[in-house]
Amino acid sequence: MVALIRRRQACGNGCGGEAQRANDQLITMRITDVRALWLSAPLEQPIGGSSRKKTWFNRQAVLVEVHTDEDLVGIGEVFTTVPEVALVAVSKFYQPLLLGENPLDIERLWEKMYFGAGYSGVKGVMIEALSGIDIALWDLRGKVENRPVWQLLPSSSRPLSPAPLPAYAAGGFWAPLADTLAEITGYVAHGFASVKMKVGLGIEEDGQRIAAVRQTIGNDVKLMIDANCGYTADQAIALGKRVEEHNVYWFEEPVLVEDWDGYKKVRESLSMKIAGGEGEYTRWGFRELIGRGCVDIAQPDVMRCGGLTESVKIAQIAAQHNVAYAPHVFCSIVGLAASLHLAAVAPSFEIFEFDMTPNPLRTHLAKTPIEVKDSRVSVPNGAGLGIELDDDALARYMVVRA
Ligand SMILES: [Mg+2]
Repeated sequence: MVALIRRRQACGNGCGGEAQRANDQLITMRITDVRALWLSAPLEQPIGGSSRKKTWFNRQAVLVEVHTDEDLVGIGEVFTTVPEVALVAVSKFYQPLLLGENPLDIERLWEKMYFGAGYSGVKGVMIEALSGIDIALWDLRGKVENRPVWQLLPSSSRPLSPAPLPAYAAGGFWAPLADTLAEITGYVAHGFASVKMKVGLGIEEDGQRIAAVRQTIGNDVKLMIDANCGYTADQAIALGKRVEEHNVYWFEEPVLVEDWDGYKKVRESLSMKIAGGEGEYTRWGFRELIGRGCVDIAQPDVMRCGGLTESVKIAQIAAQHNVAYAPHVFCSIVGLAASLHLAAVAPSFEIFEFDMTPNPLRTHLAKTPIEVKDSRVSVPNGAGLGIELDDDALARYMVVRA
C-alpha cells in the first residue's frame, strides 16, 4: 500500500482520470489468493418458487475474495444454482491462473480465465465463477483508486453523478392468493410504482391471479409477470392473450432459456413486452437473444453472465438494438451493489429489479443496507462497490470458505 500511496502523492491533483489509471497500472500489486465463501441464511418463513414445485427454506450466496500483497481485498459474488461446484471453480481452477497477476489488468485476466476454461467455460458454472472474480477485481480497482466502480466502468453514457435509479418490487412468489395480494399491496404501500409477480401455475390459475392482483393494485401501478421458463411458446401466447386486458407491462422468461425460436414466436404474437436473459451468458449469448429479436428487455445477471467487464459489452449490444436493459438481481448485497454500478452506466437502462422477498444476506450482511425509497434506489458512492461487510454476520452465515 505504501508504494501505491507514494505514486498517488506524486501524481497530485494534476493527473486526469486516464493518467491516474495508467499510473496505477504501473503499480506492482500482485494477487496472493482467491477465495470462495459459501453463505447460507435460514428463512423464518419459507417462500415459494414460481410454481408449487419449489420452496426456499434458506437464501444462499457464493462470495469471492481476491487478496493482494497490498493488504487490499476485492469482493465479488457468483450467482449460481450449484454453489458446491462454484467453490471448486473459484478456488481450484481460477485461483492458480490468477496468483501473482496484477489485479488491475482486469480485461486481460478476464480473457485468461475465459480461454483458460476452454469449451467448458463458454456457459454455465465456470462463467458464473468467473463473474464473481471479475466483480471482485473491479471492487479492488475502485478501492485502489478510491473511487466508486460506476466511475471506472467504460461507458459512453456515464453520468457525472447518478441519480437514484427507478426500481420495481420483485416478489409474488407462489403463495395462496390472499397472501400474494397482501404482499403486493405492501409493496405499493411502500411506494413502489412497479411490481412483479410469478406465474407458471397453469393458464387458468395464472389468469385468475393476475386479474385479482390488477384489481387490487388499481391501474396506476405497473405490473410485470415472470414465468421462469415455465411454459411452451403456445402456452405462453395463450396466457398472454388472456391477460392482455389487465395491462401487463412485460412477460418475463415465458419459455426455456435455450428456446430462441419460442421467444421470437411469443414476442411476435403478443402486444406486451417480452423480457429475458437472466439465464444467458456473455456477449455471444446476448448477441443471439437480442439479435434474433427474442426480447424487448434484456435482463443480464452481472454475477452470472461474465461479471462487470462483460456486462458493459452486453449493455452496449442492447442499446445498439434499441433493447432496454433491466438487470436480473436476486442475491446478497454484494451482487446488488455490483448490479447498481453497472445499471448506472448502461445506455438503455430502464428499471432496476429490487428483490423484496426475505433475504438476510441482502438486509444483514453489510454494515449499511441498500434500500428503496419512493420507488428509487441509490448507487453506492464509496470506494469500489461501496459496501462494507459485517464480520459477525459473515461468520454467522458461513458454510465454508474454500
Ligand atoms: Mg426472473
